[in-house]
Amino acid sequence: MTLHIVGAGLAGLATAVEAVARGRTVRLYEATGIAGGRCRSFFDPSLGRTIDNGNHLMLSGNRAVRRFAERIGSAGELAVAPDARFDFVDRRSGRRWCLDLGRGLVPGWLFSAARRVPGTIARDYLALVRLMLAGEGTTVTAIVGEDHLLYEPLIVPLAIAVLNTAPTEGSAALLGRVLREALVAGGRTCRPVLARRHLDAAFAGPALDWLAGRGVRPWLHHRLRGLEFARGRVSMLRFAEAGIPVGPEDAVVLAVPAWAAAELVPGLTVPTETRAILNAHFRVAGLEGGLEGAPPAPLGIVGGLAEWVFVRGDVVSTTTSAADAGMELEAGALAARLWSDAAFALGLPPDLPPWRVIKERRATIAHTPAEAARRPPAWTAWPNLFLAGDWLQGPLPATIEAAIRSGERAAELACGVEGAAPA
Ligand SMILES: Cc1cc2nc3c(=O)[nH]c(=O)nc-3n(C[C@H](O)[C@H](O)[C@H](O)COP(=O)(O)OP(=O)(O)OC[C@H]3O[C@@H](n4cnc5c(N)ncnc54)[C@H](O)[C@@H]3O)c2cc1C
Repeated sequence: MTLHIVGAGLAGLATAVEAVARGRTVRLYEATGIAGGRCRSFFDPSLGRTIDNGNHLMLSGNRAVRRFAERIGSAGELAVAPDARFDFVDRRSGRRWCLDLGRGLVPGWLFSAARRVPGTIARDYLALVRLMLAGEGTTVTAIVGEDHLLYEPLIVPLAIAVLNTAPTEGSAALLGRVLREALVAGGRTCRPVLARRHLDAAFAGPALDWLAGRGVRPWLHHRLRGLEFARGRVSMLRFAEAGIPVGPEDAVVLAVPAWAAAELVPGLTVPTETRAILNAHFRVAGLEGGLEGAPPAPLGIVGGLAEWVFVRGDVVSTTTSAADAGMELEAGALAARLWSDAAFALGLPPDLPPWRVIKERRATIAHTPAEAARRPPAWTAWPNLFLAGDWLQGPLPATIEAAIRSGERAAELACGVEGAAPA
């Protein structure tokens, strides 16, 4: 039996690694010339540095990320912050505060003013419990109103970072599930995790090496154009160059984004709305050894265009999620505004250093209640066709953790693992 996997993003790579580990023969096809998909790195000649298409923040509780990295031998490429501490600065007032979730199961931070948003008391955080109990169909703002003390300094940055969707339209149930998974397990699971050097060194590079060591090399520049069906099964993969027959014992996993899957699978319901993420990278002279005192985690900015600022060696980067409104602005104007926020937050000179702005228009699906209801399961109407990707049904929003979990699950389904089959 051969498992044909289409798409070499993290979901496709996780599918391939899981299937090979189960002893299956794997063929991996990728439309572009590189693996990694929406989680990739490249060398930028104007900065003279390898940068990521976007800063990717993970959490120490992301168990699939950890397992995957250990399996492909890249755990050392993940930098785990020692504490579940998130520093914030208000761009307008300069006020600074931190949210420090501590390490244990007991939420001691709730009872320490220095570890909460200033001016709030423990009772205000019942808003988080209300989110954890929210039913499907409601938005974050419907559960925690805009006049709540925590709305601007905590709920908005949290909702936008987790859902890549504004809280006025973002799913309260989905945010609540993430909070439950993270907070209930304690601060130990909420420590920020970043790629130590860059994403490619942490994920796609070592995954490809691991697969190559087992005889699997991706077929790059192979864009699947169509599927052919016979006798109720997928029987052929149509690429521009040729058709590849799918044998009677073979299975196919489509690990492509939602919009690509909808074009390939007849009658498939998928989320259709997406949200953008804007990233900017700045190479700052004199920071070669890194910025002294820079937090090991991103620094949150409230009231600016940049929402998070990251420091890696002499590259300072910003992230702005749910950034659809900013996509039409000219890159130079965006760089100036984003640098102004980052320089303010880090206390660096205001002169604009060399920069690179990256606009990812379809960074993730929109996490509204309506779109959440359109996320399909991993299996399809065809018994040898399965789906993988961050956009499938599951407890998490579209993230690296969701992509890897979905890939492993698709591999289990395609390999007929007992207990993985749909009821
Ligand atoms: C700017 C940005 C910032 C992000 N920040 C974070 C973050 O902080 N934390 C986090 O956890 N997640 C973050 N994410 C989300 C994360 O990157 C995704 O959840 C994850 O990479 C999705 O992986 P995937 O394999 O499901 O999809 P993709 O990465 O989209 O992979 C799909 C692959 O299929 C290929 N393909 C498409 N069509 C075809 C075809 N017809 N034939 C063959 N191949 C095809 C594509 O080229 C691609 O390689 C961010 C995403 C972006 C863009």
